[in-house]
This record gives sequence, C-alpha cells and structure tokens, in this order.
Amino acid sequence: LRQKARELAKHRKQLPIFSARETIIKEVKDNACVIIVGETGSGKTTQIPQYFMEAGLSAHGTIAVTQPRRVAAINLAKRVAQEVGTTIGNQVGYSIRFDDTSSKGTKIKYMTDGIMLRELLSDRLLLNYSVIVLDEAHERTLRTDILFGMVKSIQKQRAEMIEQGKKGIEPLKIVVMSATLDAEKFSAYFYNAKIMYISGRMYPVKVLNTIEPQSDYVDAALVTAFQIHQEETAGDILIFLTGQEEIENLEKLIEEYSVDLPTRFGKLIPCPIFAAQDSATQQKIFEPTPAGCRKVILATNIAETSITIPNIRYVVDTGCHKSRGYNAKIGIESLLIEPISKSSARQRMGRAGREAPGLCFRLYTEDSFEQLEEDTVPEIKRCNLASAILALKASGVEDVTKFDYMDRPSKSGLLKSMEQLYALGALDDKGDLTEMGKKMAGFPVDPPYAKVLLQSEVMECTKEAIEIIALLSVDTIFTFPSNKREEANEARQKFLSLDGDHLSLLNVLRGYESVKGDRDWCRENFINGRHMRHVLEVRKQLIEFSERAGINPRTSCGHDYEIVLKCFLAGFFQNAALLQPDSTYKAVVGGLTVNIHPSSAMFGKKRAAIMYNELVFTTKHYIRGVSAIEASWLAQAAPKYFGQRQA
Ligand code: ADP
Ligand code: MG
Repeated sequence: LRQKARELAKHRKQLPIFSARETIIKEVKDNACVIIVGETGSGKTTQIPQYFMEAGLSAHGTIAVTQPRRVAAINLAKRVAQEVGTTIGNQVGYSIRFDDTSSKGTKIKYMTDGIMLRELLSDRLLLNYSVIVLDEAHERTLRTDILFGMVKSIQKQRAEMIEQGKKGIEPLKIVVMSATLDAEKFSAYFYNAKIMYISGRMYPVKVLNTIEPQSDYVDAALVTAFQIHQEETAGDILIFLTGQEEIENLEKLIEEYSVDLPTRFGKLIPCPIFAAQDSATQQKIFEPTPAGCRKVILATNIAETSITIPNIRYVVDTGCHKSRGYNAKIGIESLLIEPISKSSARQRMGRAGREAPGLCFRLYTEDSFEQLEEDTVPEIKRCNLASAILALKASGVEDVTKFDYMDRPSKSGLLKSMEQLYALGALDDKGDLTEMGKKMAGFPVDPPYAKVLLQSEVMECTKEAIEIIALLSVDTIFTFPSNKREEANEARQKFLSLDGDHLSLLNVLRGYESVKGDRDWCRENFINGRHMRHVLEVRKQLIEFSERAGINPRTSCGHDYEIVLKCFLAGFFQNAALLQPDSTYKAVVGGLTVNIHPSSAMFGKKRAAIMYNELVFTTKHYIRGVSAIEASWLAQAAPKYFGQRQA
C-alpha cells in the first residue's frame, strides 16, 4: 500500500491543482465559504480533501464530500484511499444508501447528497464534520439544493454558538466545487464567497454534427465508433449513453462487429462503466490501452464531470441522458431519458481535449443543439416537493416557505405539497411533523409510497406492498411489438385481474418467479425481462430497508387482495376518481375528468370508484396504474382529508 501511494505521489504533484495547493488551504482557513471552479480532471475531488486533511482541517471532524452519484462516491473514495496509502474504511471511506464503509477514524468521507441529508436527522448541527465539500454543484439536484440552504444555516448556528462561548463547538467550513458553474450566482448565495479558478490544460476539440436527425442513436454510435477506429489516429473513444441497458447492448454489438474487422486495425476493446458493476471491472477504464488496440469507453454522464478517464481523443455524444438517480414515479431510480443541456454538451466535448487535440461527434444536428436548454433546470423547479419538505421539517426547519433557497420553488407548489403531507398524516394542523411524518422522512421513497409501506405494517400486507411498489417503479412490464400487437394483447389477458393494474402486476411477478425469470417465458408472454430484473433489484432494496426500519417484509395478506388495495389508497387517496352518469371518471380532488389509459387493465371497464398511480397528459388527461376501489374506503383511507371536506 505504502509503495503504491509513493508511486501515486508523483502523479499527485503533476496535477494542475497542485500548484494552487497552498492558496486553497489558506483561503479555506481564512474564509467560511469558498467556491472552486476547475476543469474536469484538474484534481478537485481527489486532491482538495487530502490537502485539507494534510493541513489539519480534519482535527475536529470529518471532511465530507457530497456526490450526486453513488458510483462516483465509491470510485473516488477508493482512489483516494490508494493515494493516502490505506484501505477503504480507515482514513478514507464512503457512504451510500445501504452501504456505509466509514468508521470512527474516517477523516475523508465521500457520500451521496441523499445520505448527507439523512445524516442531518441524527446530527442536526453536523458536529461530526469540520468541512462540507458540496461537489458537482452545477447538477442542482433537489437534494443538493436543500443541502445548500441547510449547511449555510448550520454554519451560522455554529458560529453564533462559538460567539456565545459554547465549549466544544468548532466552525463549519463550506466548499462548493464544480467544473462548470455560474460562480457569481453561487458566490452571492454563499455570503459573497471567495471564488477560485483552477486553470486546467485544454486542447482544441473539433465538433462534428450529423446532417440528419438519427432515429437510433445506439446504432449511430456503433457506426461512428468503427469509423473512428478505421480512419483516425491513435487515442481512445468515449461514448456517452443513458444507462446500463444501452451500454450492454452496445458492448455486445461492438464485440460482434469486431469479429469481421481485418486484423490490421487492431482490437477495439469495449469498456463499460455504470453503477451495478464490480470495481475490478471499473478499474479497467483507468489501465493503459494495450499496444495496437483501441479502447472504447461506454459511459453514462458519470464521465461528463464526475470521473476523468485518461487517453480520450474521441468523444461520441448521443445528446441524451437519464435524469439522475431519481424516479419521479416512486422516488427511487429515474428512468426518464431526456435531451441534455448545451452546457452538458460542451462538457462532453471537452473530454476529448484533455491530453491532445480531439474530435467530438455529436449524433444530432446543429439545429437540435441550438434548441437545447442553456443549463439543466434545477430539480427543485420541476419536481414534487413533498419529499424535500419532509426532509426540511425532519431536520428542524419549521417554516419551509422562509427557507433560504438558492432558487425558490413556487409558493403554490410548496402549499400543495404541504397539503398533501397533511392529508398523509405526516404533518399536523399546525404544519408540524407528526410521529408518522418523522418515520416517513427516513424512508428512501416518496411520501405516498412511504405511507403505503407504513400502512402495510398495520394492514399486514408488507410483502405485497413492496412487490407492487417495485413493479410500479418501471415504465412498463408488457412489451407491444408493433408487428405482433394481437399476440401480445392475447398473452397479456392471462395476467389481468378484474380489479385492475396493481393486482395484474402482482400476477406477472408470480408468473415470472414461478419460471425463475426464464427468458423464453418472457418472450412468449411479451414481458420485458430487463424491466423485471430491475423490479427484483428494487424489491431487494425495499426489503432490506424495511428490515432496518423494523417492519417485517415477509408479512403477507395471502389472497386477501382487497387489503392491498386499501393499503395503497392510504397513500394515493388524492388519486381517486368516481364514475359519472355520462360514464366518464371525475377526480375526487380537483374535479378533473380523467381517462383510463388504453394500456390499463381497467380500460373500457366501468366501476363506481377507482384509484390511479400516475396522471399523464398527451391529448387528454390519461391515468395509468388504475385499480377498482369502493367509494366507502375513502373516508377510512384518509380521515383527515375526506372528513374535513364533508364538514
Ligand atoms: P476533478 O474533480 O477536478 O474532475 P479528479 O480529482 O476527479 O479531478 O481527478 C484527478 C485525476 O486523477 C484525473 O486526471 C484522473 O485521471 C485521476 N484519477 C481519478 N480517479 C482515478 C482512478 N480511480 N484511477 C486512476 N486515476 C484516477
Ligand atoms: Mg470532480
């Protein structure tokens, strides 16, 4: 270990940031907040925390470094442990959901923003920490935005306590870091914090757009990779894709096509990087390319600014990303593929010019580039705030409307989310957190789902509740190939429950498990096997979580499925609708006319009352994830809500 660290010491001294070492240490000692902007790969994330430790800033607490992505937190912690000359979990550790390697002796801790927020529940003043480094600040996730305000307030509280002569309290330092950032805006928010720019090395990168829009960017990426391999000089290729599924597809395609390539071109070696991967495989991307070969790195936007990969001369940008780690549907993992922003596109391009002049192939037209948003819209401006409010309240913020937001969410959005939390029983009449709300705050899913899980303990149907939540976390379980619509429809019939989608989904899971996830079975039944495997992964996470929260995940209601629907209604009573004399459905709350989506098991059926999971607007308001309920269940599901309305 020591030997390896000694070797790496040379590398550390060659990084662009090294020449700014003394200045950075001095500025952070002299100032409460510092903003550091520096080119990706200059050494911010791996070096700065070490500088702080070497300068003694970890004497009174751990140095925390927050990351929006789990893979980055793990990967960076491992690298830094090596540089320090230790194994993970000693001076250097990481903490992500369901995996905490930090210990008492940990001086530098890489963690996800979600874990840092959870930390606030047990350590209100973050007294375990001396420095909070908010890394990748430009990503503006909902959680990071909430953290901005929280750490600012904590810093102030600690400063006041010190002024009052309280013993054992030390000041909290805040460091905000990014490769690309509206530094003035951040500085204004963090009390006119000092801004430091770290100059990196950058070579020119030539950008090439496609002339026509591409209908299948994975296919286009494949063609482009082979073109580069045959026509361009040495240097590795980095392809930006949106997720594991695409990455694995392309990896397979590259391997297949490589077989036909004349040997004089050398081998094209695909190197995937994504979350669910063992670290030895991940480390491969950092190893030197064998002579005569060319590596092609297949990455998500983790390679945009979080992790720097050496020797890249060619970037292939698909123009898309998956909105990070957040599933707007249930608050677990996101599956939404969206166009990136201009600033992301520029970052991706930059990855080709770190060591020599490079080329960037954009698999979209120049016009499409012009139409991209300048920056990614902060999540706080576009998602449901119930989970954020719950986190704030649980951390002691009483008036969430007065919270110090960097970008303020709309007042109506806040109030609507507050009302929802009240109805769920998470807040009381005064808007204070209830016991139930406290429990919900600790759950890794959005409040309505947290409520379903809590309610499932009371109703003794936790097993089924967990399974249905996992099933709802993916877009669709059934596939409908356009050339086999009838067959697909027929196959689907055998899973359908008269009571709607929740129980139909459960039937699919039962069938899938009875054949142990057999691929042929999936194909014959038009079931999306990849999505089913994701469902099992989410279920596993939820089971582990329930166990930790003291809820037995094996409690089952057997075949008494009415209980499960009642349980879901406790979280989704706001999504109930009643059949009208003219055969339309009208939402109980808000009175909107809603239409059952053709993909639903309830499509074309008339039941007096229904509930749904999701509302989508295309040409009309469609509802998905629909099940039949009884109108009389409503008062019981949400006494506060419906009791009050009647009064
Ligand atoms: P920044 O945060 O400024 O983008 P980093 O501190 O992440 O930069 O990386 C600094 C350098 O360390 C990069 O040039 C990168 O190549 C190298 N590096 C980072 N992680 C690893 C790793 N796991 N293996 C090998 N080299 C790494
Ligand atoms: Mg970094």
